[in-house]
Amino acid sequence: MEKMPMERVSQQLPEPWDVAAVGAHPDDVEIGCGGTLARLAEQGYRVGIIDLTDGEPTPGSSGPAQRLAEARAAADKLGVCQRVTLELPNRRLFDSFEARVQLAIEFRRWRPRLVLGLGEKTVMASPDHWQAMQITDAAVFYSRLCKWDDQFESLAPHAIEAQLCYSLAFHRMELPAGSGQIVVDISRTLKKKLTSVRCYETQFPPAKEYLFARLETSANFLGQAAGFQAGELLTSPRPIGTGDLMATVFGGSGGRRVESGEQET
Ligand SMILES: [Zn+2]
Repeated sequence: MEKMPMERVSQQLPEPWDVAAVGAHPDDVEIGCGGTLARLAEQGYRVGIIDLTDGEPTPGSSGPAQRLAEARAAADKLGVCQRVTLELPNRRLFDSFEARVQLAIEFRRWRPRLVLGLGEKTVMASPDHWQAMQITDAAVFYSRLCKWDDQFESLAPHAIEAQLCYSLAFHRMELPAGSGQIVVDISRTLKKKLTSVRCYETQFPPAKEYLFARLETSANFLGQAAGFQAGELLTSPRPIGTGDLMATVFGGSGGRRVESGEQET
C-alpha cells in the first residue's frame, strides 16, 4: 500500500484528547480512576479510554458483544468522548513490540497531553495488569520517537507531557511510598463512578456486591486523608512540580481567603 504523505495524515487526525486512560480490560479504568475521569469530563476536558483487550472470555458473559455494550454504557456514564478497544488477547496479554506499537499508534492518533495507566502488580488477580503497565510505559515513549513513522501507520510523533498511574489494589490501606501522590477529589463523581462500574453486569453479579462497598470505603479513606469526602489516588513517577503553589494547595484559581475566626477546626 502506498504511504500517505505526512501532511495528509495530519489533516485526517481526529480532535485530540486531553487525557487518555489505558486499561488491560474494560472496567479497569472505571475501577481505578472512574471518578477522576468523570470529574475531568465535567470540567470540559476531552477524555478517552483505551482498553488493550476486550476482556473476554469471562465466566458471566455471553461474549465480546455483551462486554463491548457494557463498556460503551460505562463510558457514557463517565462522559468520556471516545473508547477504543484494541484486539490484544485477554488472559495472555504480554509486553511485546507489537503490543507497544498498537498502543503507541493510538497515542499518535489521539495525541493526549496526559496518560493515566496501571501502576502496579495485582497479585491474585489478572497478570494482564502488570503487562499493561509495561506496554503503556513503552508506548508513551514510542509515541514521541522520530524517524520511525513507518512503524506507526505513518502517524507523526506525539510527545505525551505527563503520565500518572492509577491503582486497582483494594487490600492496601496505606499510601505507597517512593513516588509523588495525588488524591483527586471525586466527592461529586463517586456516584458516577459506581454507576459506570455497575454497567459491567457480567463481571459484578450480586455475589460480587462486596466490591462496591470496597470501592466506596477506599474512596472515602483516600479522600478524607486529603480533606475531601471521597478521592482517588494517582501516583507520579516523579515529584509533582507546580508553578502556582496557591492553586495546587487550594485548588482552582487559588481558593478564597478564610476570614479569621470563620473556621474553627
Ligand atoms: Zn482487569
